[in-house]
Order: sequence, then structure tokens, then C-alpha cells
Amino acid sequence: MNYISTRDKSVKATAAEAIARGISDDGGLFVPDSFPHFDREDFKKISQLDYVGRAKYVLKYFLNDFTDEEIDRCVKGAYIGSFEDDKPAPISVIGKNANVLELWHGPTCAFKDLALQLLPYLLTVSAHKVSSGRKTVILVATSGDTGKAALEGFKDVPDTEIIVFFPSDGVSPMQKLQMESQKGKNVHVCAIKGNFDDAQTGVKKIFTDSAVKQKLADNNMQFSSANSINWGRLAPQIVYYVSAYCDMLERGEDYLKDGFNIVVPTGNFGNILAAYYAKKIGVPVNRLICASNANNVLTDFIRTGTYDRNRKFFTTISPSMDILISSNLERMLFELCGNDDAKVREMQASLAKDGKFTVNEEVKNRFDELFWAGCCDDSATLETIGGLFDEYGYLCDTHTAVAMNVYKQYVETTGDDRPTVIASTASPYKFAKSVLSAVSDRESNDEFGNVRLLSEVTSTAVPAPIAALESAEVRFNDICGRDEMLSAVYKSLGIE
Ligand SMILES: *Cc1c(COP(=O)(O)O)cnc(C)c1O
Repeated sequence: MNYISTRDKSVKATAAEAIARGISDDGGLFVPDSFPHFDREDFKKISQLDYVGRAKYVLKYFLNDFTDEEIDRCVKGAYIGSFEDDKPAPISVIGKNANVLELWHGPTCAFKDLALQLLPYLLTVSAHKVSSGRKTVILVATSGDTGKAALEGFKDVPDTEIIVFFPSDGVSPMQKLQMESQKGKNVHVCAIKGNFDDAQTGVKKIFTDSAVKQKLADNNMQFSSANSINWGRLAPQIVYYVSAYCDMLERGEDYLKDGFNIVVPTGNFGNILAAYYAKKIGVPVNRLICASNANNVLTDFIRTGTYDRNRKFFTTISPSMDILISSNLERMLFELCGNDDAKVREMQASLAKDGKFTVNEEVKNRFDELFWAGCCDDSATLETIGGLFDEYGYLCDTHTAVAMNVYKQYVETTGDDRPTVIASTASPYKFAKSVLSAVSDRESNDEFGNVRLLSEVTSTAVPAPIAALESAEVRFNDICGRDEMLSAVYKSLGIE
């Protein structure tokens, strides 16, 4: 197996090259040119394993030039000791068929930890194989959760520097504090005046600028990415869908006889893409349900076949999904266009130039077979949190609530009530103010006051990493313009 670029499939790379480089020189994203297929026997075997074993079993196929020892070391380093009870992806069952896959029991209380605890290990091994001796510079654009999870994963990793850009008014106070208080000698954090798309576009531009690349090379450095454009972010996410399937298998043959659905609260399309890859390697997924907030560019795309980012951008209470350009959709398009790189180039060029593109009838039909899409606004999100808590005593965050709301829409519209996995992407305590307002009339004007009230009102425990933030010291408060990002990078690296 090799990795190929979505914009030029003659470009080939090993896993280590794909991970070390992050993005292909042509601006395309790396994807595997073939996939393993797991059968019943495989899944039976995988079911017997703990999370570390499951991760090793699945990842072996995608890390084609890693040795077994390297995979073992990476996976153990990532998943032992950093998640509550060493269970990175437990399921809470609500009612009969809603399996809430809680992906937020890691160090930063969001699902990004599942990938970003592992990525630094993968990247270190990859960089060593590909270009020993060079320092790796991780550039991150974040809508809130990636930044913190990447900082936490990469802090004090030898031979790396990490620089994170976040939209100054586009993240929650808790997310902001998490990043600005980050410890570590190799970490840099900078707010930008703009939204997430501005941050992401800026980072992509820096990445693919050959003069910048040369300047780094002259200083014995090279860029890589911790955003979900990096294959090393996606592969670990496939694992938890396989793991969820294995956990559900324990409930008997009958439970999953018609397969199951997966609902994912979606922003950059990384998490739902991983769910698609899980289906592709043999997990019996029926339908992938794409849930969006008021920034519903994906809902419209999946329903109509036209992707159009020329629309109002909303700042919502589920900020990690406030995105109008979903980078990983490019991988899905490549897949559903039958690996037609020319078509992908055309669509991406049209997106860059006019902010939109339309897929043909055939591709649209393939999307229809696989996906269903829905969206909800902030008030429906809050109602969903309140309703779930009243009815089931289950407390979820704003992103998960968007997924739960769309799941309900799906069942009502289609009548399909088969078992469903709902990706729960963040702890409710990361968005304490909004969540509290959904379950109580009480409120504090202080972020940690809201955290305490939420705990009191719902009798749930404050996650330790959130509690620890209250006394954390702010280390970073830089803010720069959209066109000052490059100089911020040079300054952080000391190569002005
Ligand atoms: C990143 C994030 C999302 C969106 O995930 P994508 O992979 O970008 O689609 C949803 N919810 C939370 C809490 C997140 O941090």
C-alpha cells in the first residue's frame, strides 16, 4: 500500500512520508491507494483486545513502513496513562439504540485527544525515517479543540516546535484559557484577527510557499501539520469506530443484524471521514449522518450536490464546528469520484476561485447512498441538552447536542431506528456556560463559577484537567492580523 495525493495520484508516499509532510506539495491530501478488509474473524479477534490492542491491529495496515515495535511503542505511549480509566472511547447507552461514544476522557476533554495523543509519536518516528536531523515545526490552525490537544500532545517532544493560531473571538473562554496557559518549552500560541477559515487558509498558504519552505530548510527545520489534513490524525480516528463496533457486538448477534448508523457533529469533515473509512474496511455501517450547526454548508452540499461557502458565517455555541471550508471533504470527493484527481483539482480550483463547486449526478448519487445530513441552530441545541438531561439524566456538550438533535430528525424523517453510534466530541464542562443555561436558571458571571454550578445542578464531576485550569497562569496573549501570521511564525522560531 502507498499514499497518493488527491490532486495528483502519480505522487506516491509511504506512511512515514505522508505523516512527516502533512500535505502534498501540489496542495492535495494524502490518502491510501488501497484499504484492508476485515471480516467477522478479524472483528472477533479485535473484540478480545483492549483499546491498545485494537489500535495496533487496525493501524498496522495503515502504517505500512512502521515496524511492529514502533507501532507498539507509539500506541502504548499515546493510550496508556492519559485517558480516564485507560478507556479512551467508552459508550453510554441512552434508551434502546443510542450509543453515545464518549471521546472526551483525555487530557483536553475533547475527541481530538484520541488522535493528537498518538500523532506526536507517529510524527517523531516518521521524521526520523524521512529526514533525520531536521527539527519538525508543527503549524496548527484551530477552531478551539485541536490547538489545545496538539499543544498537549507535542509539548516538550524533542526536536519539535509547535505554533498554534486561533481566531481571537471564535473560541470559548475555556478553550482560550486552555491554550493560553499551555506549558512546555517548545510551544507558541497566537490569536488572529479573523475566523477559523482565515486561520486555516493562512496556515495552508505558509505551508505550501516554497520560499518559506526553503528558509526553514536553511535553518535545518521543516513544517508538518497536526490538523486533520495530516493522515496521522485520521488513522487513529478509524480505530474508535472499530472499537465501538466491537463493544456493541458484545450485546449479541441480533443487535447489529442490520448494521448501525453513525452520527457525527461535523466541522472539517475529519471525524466523519474516519467513520467512512471504518465502513470501507468492513465495519457494517449503514448510514453516515452528518450533523452541522447554523454553519450548514455541508447539509446543503449533501442535500443538493452544490458546495457553496458564499454565505454568512455564524459564531455559535458549538464553535469547533464553525467552519465553512471543510478540508477533509476533499478526501471524500476523491473517493466518490473514483480516485479522479483531475476532477478533484477542478473542484478545488473552483472552490478557491468562486467559493463553490457542484458534483455531477453520479457522484451526488453516491453521496446519497452513504450520507444523510441535517443541522440545527443554537436554541435547538440548548433544547436538546435540556431535554436529554430531563429525560435520561444524561449531560452532553453543545457539539454532541447538535448530533443528538440531527439524529432525532433522521429517525423522524426516515423511520430508521436501528442502533446508532453518536460521536460525543467534548466534555460538557468545556462549554459550561451554555450547557448550564440549558439545564438551569442559575448562572455565574465567572467561567469557573459556571463550572461549579453545573456540577452542583447536575451532580456530575468536573473533569480534573478543567478543574486544574482555574489556577493556571496565562503565558501567551499575542494577537496578530491575518497577514502577519508568517512573521509570527518566524518570530516564534527565532529566524526573523
Ligand atoms: C473538531 C471538533 C468537531 C468537528 O470535527 P471534524 O473532524 O473537524 O469534523 C466537533 N466537535 C468538537 C468538540 C470538536 O472539537
